Amino acid sequence: VVPSLRVNAAATERSYVMVKPDGVQRGLVGEIITRFERKGFQLVGLKMFQTPKSLAEEHYGELKEKPFYGKLVDYIVSGPVVCIALEGPGVVASARKLIGVTNPLNAEPGTIRGDFGIEVGRNVVHGSDSPENGLREIGLWFDQDEIVEWEQHMTPWLKE
Ligand code: GDP
Ligand code: MG
Repeated sequence: VVPSLRVNAAATERSYVMVKPDGVQRGLVGEIITRFERKGFQLVGLKMFQTPKSLAEEHYGELKEKPFYGKLVDYIVSGPVVCIALEGPGVVASARKLIGVTNPLNAEPGTIRGDFGIEVGRNVVHGSDSPENGLREIGLWFDQDEIVEWEQHMTPWLKE
């Protein structure tokens, strides 16, 4: 066993974060990953991906009845995305705070959407809304062998 791989990963909270096609096209991938890395959350999955329509529809299945659902699916499949799996205590709610509210015009400056967007239909980034959905969405977007369990050596400098 490689020393840096955890043998028995505790089931800590995980969030599925995604740089949407507009964020990729605008060159914001590094900036967005950096914000979560700097905060102290652990990357456990990362890939670039061209989303099949069926996956976009499943991911946003809860919004099927919304008037904007068709446009939303078209937007998500309109170009490559970057899929990010993050781990850490409270990561779901904290990632949502770092991302900002759904409409970028209302999002606080300092949040990703507040700093980089002006329209709800182009809001740069996705973040899971509950720990249950975090696990569900990571299962949707990543194969099991794409999630990497590893020991983060800066942990003693992040956690008391
Ligand atoms: P989120 O959790 O903050 O991403 O927001 P929701 O789960 O409510 O909606 C999912 C995504 O649908 C949002 O991130 C937007 O990309 C899109 N969306 C939400 N509301 C609207 C809307 O009124 N119009 C359009 N065009 N897109 C919307
Ligand atoms: Mg949502």
